[in-house]
Amino acid sequence: MTNGISTHRRLLGSSIAISVCLWGAISPAFAQRSAPRDPAEPQQGQPHSKLLPRPAAAIARRSVDEKSMRALIDQLVSCGTRLSLSSWTDAKRGIGCGRDRIVARLNEIAKDSGGKLQVIVDKFDSTSERTSGKPLHLESVYAILAGSDPKLAKTLFIVSGHYDSRPSDVMNAEADAPGADDDASGVSVSVESARLLSKAAATGKGGYRATLLFAAIPGEEQGLLGGYRLLEWAKQQGYTIGGMLDDDIVGDDPSPGAPHRVRLFSGNGEIDDCDSPGRELARAIEEIDGRENIRMIFRVDRYGRGGDHYPFYKAGLPAVRFTEPLEDYAHQHQTPRTENGIEYGDFAKYVNPSFLGDVARDNAEALRQLAMAPAAPTNARLTGAVTPDAKVSWSAEDDSERAGFEILWRETTEPRWQVYDFAASPGETVLHGVSTDNHFFAVRAVGKNGARSIAVPTEMERRPPPLPAGTKQ
Ligand SMILES: [Zn+2]
Repeated sequence: MTNGISTHRRLLGSSIAISVCLWGAISPAFAQRSAPRDPAEPQQGQPHSKLLPRPAAAIARRSVDEKSMRALIDQLVSCGTRLSLSSWTDAKRGIGCGRDRIVARLNEIAKDSGGKLQVIVDKFDSTSERTSGKPLHLESVYAILAGSDPKLAKTLFIVSGHYDSRPSDVMNAEADAPGADDDASGVSVSVESARLLSKAAATGKGGYRATLLFAAIPGEEQGLLGGYRLLEWAKQQGYTIGGMLDDDIVGDDPSPGAPHRVRLFSGNGEIDDCDSPGRELARAIEEIDGRENIRMIFRVDRYGRGGDHYPFYKAGLPAVRFTEPLEDYAHQHQTPRTENGIEYGDFAKYVNPSFLGDVARDNAEALRQLAMAPAAPTNARLTGAVTPDAKVSWSAEDDSERAGFEILWRETTEPRWQVYDFAASPGETVLHGVSTDNHFFAVRAVGKNGARSIAVPTEMERRPPPLPAGTKQ
C-alpha cells in the first residue's frame, strides 16, 4: 500500500510537473482568441482596426474629497435614525434631518457649479407591507447636471445611494439606526460624484453630452420605494435610462489584505444568448475603471438582499450595484448594542475613507465617460446562421460627434468583449469566415472623443427546429 501511494504520488508529482511545463509552453496561446485545436476564425486573420484612445483628463484619485464624504456621513449618523417611518419634520432626529443635510451639502456644491447643478426634492407617497399597508410620505433628493447635446440630454445616467437607515426591527422608528455604511456611504459617493463632475462642467471641461443625475433616495429598507419612484419619475420627465449605478454599502473593507476591489453586481437578463443591459453596463464600468479596481459579479445582487438597481434591472434597463468586498453583518441592519462581547451597529467608525474614496472615483469616472459617449446603437441583430459568414447589423441616429462603431465578440465562455472590427456607419457588417455559432457578438458606438457607449449584444432571429407535433416550445 505504502509503495502504491508513493508511486501514485510520484506519478501525480510528475504529471503536475508536466502540466506546469505544458502550461508554460502553451500559455501564450491561451491569451489568443482560440485554443490551438479549434479552427481559426476567420482563416485569414482578424481585421486590424486602429482603436481610438479613451478620453483624456480622467478624474484623479487625489481630487476626491474624502474629508467631506466622511463629514456628510457623520452628519447623517447624527440624525439618530433615518428610518423612512421616522419624522420628516424634526430638524434634529429622523429622516427629515437626513434630507436637510443632503440638500444643504448639494446646495453648497451647486453654488460652485456656476449654476449648472440643479437640486430638487421630489415628494411622493408609497405603500408596502413595511409601511403597514398605508401610504407613506417620502422625499427623494436629486441633483441634475443637464447634458450639452440636444438629443442626448434626454438620456440619463444615474448614481444613487439610499439615505434611509434601519435598526434590527424595520418598523421601529424610535430605535437608533446610524446607517453609516448602509447607506450613508452610498449617498456620500453620489454627492461626491456630483461635486467632481459639476466642478468640471463649471470650468467648461465636462463635455457631458447626456444628463447626469445624482440621487439620494429614501424608502429602500421599506421595499425599494425610492428606487421604484426614481424610475417612474425619470419616465415622467421623458428621460431614457442610459445607466443606473446603485451604491449601497460601499464604505468598508475590513478583511485582511486590504485594499480590495469593490464588487459590481449585474443580473443575467432574460433573453437567451444575450446578456442583460446591466451586464453590459458592468462590463463598460470595468473597462473604464480597470480590472484592478472592479470585481464584476455576474449575479443581480447578494442572495437574500435587494437594492435600488433592481426596479431598473427588472424593467430591462442598464443597472448595476456597487457593494464593498466582504460585508460584516454585525454592522448592518442592527440596533446598536453589545451582546456576548460583540458590538453591533452601523457606526461611522467602521467607514474606511480610503476605500470609500476609491469607490467615488470609480463611479465618477464611469459616469464621466458614459455621459461623454454617443448613444448606444439599437436593433443589433445577428444573421447568417447556416452560412460561412456572420452578419452583424444595427441602427443609430445621425451624430456628428461619433467616430463610428466597434463590433465586439467573445468566446461564449469568456466574460469580456474584445474588439473585432470598426465600422464608420450603421448598417450591416459581414464577418467573413466567422461562424454565427462559436462566439457572442455586440456593437458599441465610439465618440470622436474616444468615449464608448455600453455594448449592445446582437439578438439572433430564432427559427425553432421542426419538432414532433404537439411539442410545447
Ligand atoms: Zn442598503
